[in-house]
Amino acid sequence: MEPERPAGDDGTSILMEEMTFERYLERIRGGAVVILPCGAIEQHGPHLPMKADAFIATAIAERTARAHDALVAPSFNYGCKSQALSGGGQVFGGTTSLDSDTFTRVLRDVLRELMRHGATRMLVLNGHGENQFPTYEGVDLALRDAGRDDVKILVAGWWQFVSEERIREIYPGEFPGWDLEHAATTETSLMLALDPASVRHAHVLDERMDHVPPYAVFPQPPDLVPRSGVMSRATPASRELGEALLDTVRRGLDDLFRREFP
Ligand code: ZN
Ligand code: MN
Repeated sequence: MEPERPAGDDGTSILMEEMTFERYLERIRGGAVVILPCGAIEQHGPHLPMKADAFIATAIAERTARAHDALVAPSFNYGCKSQALSGGGQVFGGTTSLDSDTFTRVLRDVLRELMRHGATRMLVLNGHGENQFPTYEGVDLALRDAGRDDVKILVAGWWQFVSEERIREIYPGEFPGWDLEHAATTETSLMLALDPASVRHAHVLDERMDHVPPYAVFPQPPDLVPRSGVMSRATPASRELGEALLDTVRRGLDDLFRREFP
């Protein structure tokens, strides 16, 4: 006889936070992959909400979880410090960041807890570039603490599934590189595809940086990045490009699941 499920958990949710703890334990002990989206609260120009990085990572995580019978843990909405040449830096109000060390330790704690519950297959899915290396560190420390050899944890940023060749095919004009895509054509396109009501169309603008030094300067010179917080062109953004990016990322994640989590 099927045990009666408590109200609020109809057994179909992919979100960890919506499950009863018993349903959650049943899922991960059955081998379900846990996807942990990581983003940031960060300025994204005059046209995008500050949730963009966390929102995009979470939306991709949810679609992936539905396709692969995985589940999604609550996202990290605060991310690592914004850097000048990839997110405009900490000179902007609104950008609300953690020290890398704090982020790493929180991630380590959360991964430890997931492993304690019995999770053995996890994917940390990043939407904010600056989280990448602190994520590696958090995963490494969590695995070192756990001392287990039955656990596999993967880390990826969504853009890593979009090859240079693919971006050349779908990008309108010359691609400035992922770092300068902050609040620009690709992120705006993704938000147009995922949450069009959150994009302020009249405020989408093009920027170009006069000089992009091949090194970092601390403290950040006040005139280094455009005051708008946009790092390159955003007006070529379209819902179609957003859908093409999502499709490309989806195929990359399908491949990841086939190879790594059969
Ligand atoms: Zn972003
Ligand atoms: Mn970011």
